Amino acid sequence: DGVIWFDGKLVPWREAQTHVLTHTLHYGMGVFEGVRAYNTDAGPAIFRLEEHTDRLFRSAHILGMTIPYSREELIEAQKTVVRENGLDSAYLRPMCFLGSEGMGLRAEGLKVHCIIAAWDWPSYMDPDAKEKGIKIRTSSYTRHHVNITMCKAKANGNYMNSMLALREALDSGCEEALLLDNEGYVAEGSGENIFIVKEDGILYTPELTSCLEGITRDTIIRFAQDLGLEVKEKRITRDEVYIAKEAFFTGTAAEVLPIREHDGRTIGNGQRGPITEQLQTMYFDQVTGKREV
Ligand code: PLP
Repeated sequence: DGVIWFDGKLVPWREAQTHVLTHTLHYGMGVFEGVRAYNTDAGPAIFRLEEHTDRLFRSAHILGMTIPYSREELIEAQKTVVRENGLDSAYLRPMCFLGSEGMGLRAEGLKVHCIIAAWDWPSYMDPDAKEKGIKIRTSSYTRHHVNITMCKAKANGNYMNSMLALREALDSGCEEALLLDNEGYVAEGSGENIFIVKEDGILYTPELTSCLEGITRDTIIRFAQDLGLEVKEKRITRDEVYIAKEAFFTGTAAEVLPIREHDGRTIGNGQRGPITEQLQTMYFDQVTGKREV
């Protein structure tokens, strides 16, 4: 139930449908965002809404799609969807896709449609995972060429690898996958950026050549700097993760998620590390409005 914003109108959830010849359904050319609203004392607040909206426009620009709405219209629309659905906290999914006016790869003259849906999605992972941490495995799927050159776009077509990698991880008893880039360096999780704390006490995260420019990643880098921690963006190898003191994933859905095991190797002492915990607390305080932006 509820309503979905569909091309400028609020339509009942069940009626928000599209044709089977929708171009994006066939070829995967589309862009989307994952945004989150948290319940704060002042009511529901959408975390870094402007940045997510800007990334949606950048993703569309990268793919050569013109979104037929302004940034301000989509910002307002996202607030409207949370409000009209009476949600206190929510996961929001803005998505832009190509219409059904024609098939084929030329994709000329196709309408760009936009939807914004929102629903209550309290925890992406088992809620215990935030404290206990998760087990991950290196994926046999990599961030392949198109994804690496286009990794600034949060695009529908980029997620096949992520889904295959996640399924592979789940099938082998892990909770998440770690994808490497084409050269074998650590890229990111299926839908998360990764950070490690090494013996030197420095926080490391892969540079933005093979991973999405995560908004949570950016938030965590700022928090770490607030704490006086040194943060280095550099290429990371798989074995640096094995011997890290702490490791964690960040993402709008996953939030700040400790990693306790990687490819069967215990990370640190197998428990959420102190820096992870501190950054996690800062993150939750921030999103729920307890901390000034
Ligand atoms: N990497 C990928 C592939 C993602 O899909 C996401 C989720 O959006 C992230 C990283 C984390 O990005 P953000 O923190 O902006 O949600």
